[in-house]
Amino acid sequence: MAINTPLTAFPLSIVVFCDRCGTEVEHDYMVHDLMTREQRLAVAREHVARNEGWSCSADGDFCPDCKPAPQLEPDETDAEAEAG
Ligand SMILES: [Zn+2]
Repeated sequence: MAINTPLTAFPLSIVVFCDRCGTEVEHDYMVHDLMTREQRLAVAREHVARNEGWSCSADGDFCPDCKPAPQLEPDETDAEAEAG
């Protein structure tokens, strides 16, 4: 029972703002007609997070200069069990 809904895809210019310094990065993204504004912004946030070093999470969007925890090298985390 697959429903193939023909979606109209089109390029849309979306701006992602840094919540700390206000830096903005603008790109064109392919979006669909049925995507909400939030979904479209999510595409842009994922792109800058993956390709431009941004940190986009529930805490906000941060440019590479402002992101809180840069993961430069995956260090071994000390597994200290604090269960008592
Ligand atoms: Zn910033």
